[in-house]
Amino acid sequence: MKTIIEPFKIKMVEQIKMTTRQERQRYLEEAGYNLFLVKAENVLIDLLTDSGTAAMSAEQWAAAMRGDEAYAGSRSFERFEAVVRDIFGFKHIIPTHQGRAAERILFSVMCKKGDIVPNNTHFDTTRANIEYLGAEAVDLVIPEGRQPSLLHPFKGNMDTTALRELIARLHPRRIPLGMITITNNSGGGQPVSMANIREVKQILSQYNIPLYIDACRFAENAYFIKLREEGYSNRSVKEIAREMFSYADGCTFSAKKDGLANIGGFLATNNDVLAQQEKDLLILTEGFPTYGGLAGRDLDAIAVGLEEVLHEDYLQYRIVSTRYLGDHIAREGVPIVQPPGGHAIYIDARGFLPHIPPNQFPGQALVAELYLEAGIRSVEIGSVMFGRIDKETGEEHFAPMELVRLAIPRRVYTQSHIDYVVEAIIEVFKRRESIRGFKIVYQAPFLRHFTARFEPV
Ligand SMILES: *Cc1c(COP(=O)(O)O)cnc(C)c1O
Repeated sequence: MKTIIEPFKIKMVEQIKMTTRQERQRYLEEAGYNLFLVKAENVLIDLLTDSGTAAMSAEQWAAAMRGDEAYAGSRSFERFEAVVRDIFGFKHIIPTHQGRAAERILFSVMCKKGDIVPNNTHFDTTRANIEYLGAEAVDLVIPEGRQPSLLHPFKGNMDTTALRELIARLHPRRIPLGMITITNNSGGGQPVSMANIREVKQILSQYNIPLYIDACRFAENAYFIKLREEGYSNRSVKEIAREMFSYADGCTFSAKKDGLANIGGFLATNNDVLAQQEKDLLILTEGFPTYGGLAGRDLDAIAVGLEEVLHEDYLQYRIVSTRYLGDHIAREGVPIVQPPGGHAIYIDARGFLPHIPPNQFPGQALVAELYLEAGIRSVEIGSVMFGRIDKETGEEHFAPMELVRLAIPRRVYTQSHIDYVVEAIIEVFKRRESIRGFKIVYQAPFLRHFTARFEPV
């Protein structure tokens, strides 16, 4: 059979509220053209993020009902810990309410002012948590990963020559840890190969620098390795995942992605001393180490989600259906990051709107237009998210790429929803020359994209 169907059927539905173009124009103006400030009920197809937006399965809901809400030592934690240890293999597993809480605790314990943390590409919360401590977050993705249209099977790989040079240039003592993000979210949802993880580990171990994996989309990354890397086609996705983590000293994880849950995360490490310090900090802001800011029912839902996300019929549908959206718009000439990543399609907004300069935020312009056209919510990953104003010179620095991400929630939308998105993007593409840029009229000092307000220029 040619058609790969959704490997599930629908047991519960959620109504979508239809809106008119005039209504959407008003909602946009009220939100300062920032889609983070538009109410979800006024969105038809919500591709803002794949984070925490998954549809849980009947098995996950059943597990949630078994949640043990004991403050300490709950059976939910035991079930959660057993599944996490089985897949990830780390010695200490510390639950947190989501990924960034794990990041904050990890960096608070390991980093200080003046330190440098390399990564293929830091996710926005990772970078912000490092910079908040006065340390520096350095992106070392391979050059191919910075060219949107270039085909490469593992565009998320770290540039190991650049990593060696960085360590040679600085004292290794200034690098408290190295990180690899799988898949590389900010770089286009691109996978990292096993060979690259292995090589990065070898380089870092020569200097006793530990390797931590930002593991948010580990299952999608493992599946790409199975499809694309020699020697892995006959291995199970779980075996591949175990091998990836065997090269790391710990990881941070947001269960809102490949945990198939709506909240949750964890921090894992093999280091006994760090684990103790991390648990002390956890108690301060997240909670006791057997729940870490989560309810017992959340831990149970994540435990089941982590098993389901490794089913290969699920992963095949996931990767094929994401690619379907990318292939259908690319065929009409829409420039996208190639090849399509695991959880999202990234439109190259600079190529889509070449007449809008970076200081007028082409990505933001496209995001606003897709909402106006069809009620679709997407997100800018470009100079609104990563642009910087130099404190000394007042000069504006722009992001290397101006992308618009269409993130696909897991198990939520059907093929006709995606066909509607394809139609809308092609419609906007046809009249792209009439689209105008924006200027920022309000911004916060950190993570400005969440609350910034814009005006059309
Ligand atoms: C989502 C995400 C995070 C942060 O996780 P939250 O649960 O949103 O706090 C960190 N890194 C990557 C790559 C992510 O995608």
